Amino acid sequence: MKITIPLKTLSTREIQKTFIIAGPCSVESEEQIMQTAAGLADKGIQVLRGGIWKPRTRPGSFEGMGIEALQWLKDAGNEYNLPVAVEVATPEHVEQCMKHGIDIIWIGARTTTNPFSVQILADSLKGVDIPILIKNPISPDIELWLGAFERVYNAGIKTLVAVHRGFTSHRKTAYRNVPNWRVPIELKGRIKGIPLLCDPSHISGKTELLQSVAQEAMDLLFDGIMIEVHNNPKAALSDAKQQITPQAFGELISSLKVKKPFSDDKEFYQHLSDLRKEIDRVDDKLIDLLAQRMHLSRQIGTVKRNLDVSNFQPGRWEEIVKSRTKAGVKKNLSAEFVLRIYQFIHEESIRQQEDMPD
Ligand code: PEP
Ligand code: MN
Repeated sequence: MKITIPLKTLSTREIQKTFIIAGPCSVESEEQIMQTAAGLADKGIQVLRGGIWKPRTRPGSFEGMGIEALQWLKDAGNEYNLPVAVEVATPEHVEQCMKHGIDIIWIGARTTTNPFSVQILADSLKGVDIPILIKNPISPDIELWLGAFERVYNAGIKTLVAVHRGFTSHRKTAYRNVPNWRVPIELKGRIKGIPLLCDPSHISGKTELLQSVAQEAMDLLFDGIMIEVHNNPKAALSDAKQQITPQAFGELISSLKVKKPFSDDKEFYQHLSDLRKEIDRVDDKLIDLLAQRMHLSRQIGTVKRNLDVSNFQPGRWEEIVKSRTKAGVKKNLSAEFVLRIYQFIHEESIRQQEDMPD
């Protein structure tokens, strides 16, 4: 499926350089949002963000200040001449945002996950003429993310932006939400012209990882970032561990190196093309070897089938993981990388054995 969303520039300012949305996880008080905005005002951001209604995993935690905070956010935006952005999850939220002149709204990860909720929201967005940001669903399901774009697009919204905030993982990782970069990259390939932002705050979950995640997004040619900034992060009522001060934000932004997609240096292209030819040769060999390996797997499948033995042999799989990661590490490959490759290869071997005709 391929949908085409013509890129219209965001209504207020054009995306000329890295587009930055910054502000607290939640708007907590008039002073908090005004002070945060004051700290951000001279740091080149395009939009001030703030959560008004907070989707929390467990009940009983701070759920946002609600409607009165919309005005606080809008006032802070007016004071520093910044458009403001808010998360919406229900038609009532949309209505209140429109009443208060909110400039940009976003659909959060938990809402994108549920097509019923997205459709109800899309219906309530008919006739609304502001940019809509759609965060990825909590699972790395690209069709679900695309579906949310289609629903909102079909409601007549033409200025759409994707926000990558990482995915829930059953595995323990350094991240709060694993980045799984290939998913947002694929989305960008499937929706022509869609601007793509990265939210390093919800990917990282802690301040130490923010810089490297934001830099990775720049290296992958993301169009900008949405990041949580609080005037006093330690006292934040939500997501305290991942928020940074306006000053730390300034340092982070100036540390980012923005890569360019092309160069006009001819020698560079010659060098690139030589190396790519070598890569092409290596890839040809890799494909050949993979095909040979699958051929052997199918032969093993026949042997197992003749004796009614299961295709999956846990002992053999353990041995493969151990020996291949060890061999990979010796050649400077990361154990995680080798493990993932072998997970794919082994799954495919088993699938081919199962699919063999009798
Ligand atoms: C947020 O941006 O504060 C938020 C709740 O994000 P997400 O929907 O990505 O969890
Ligand atoms: Mn948050």
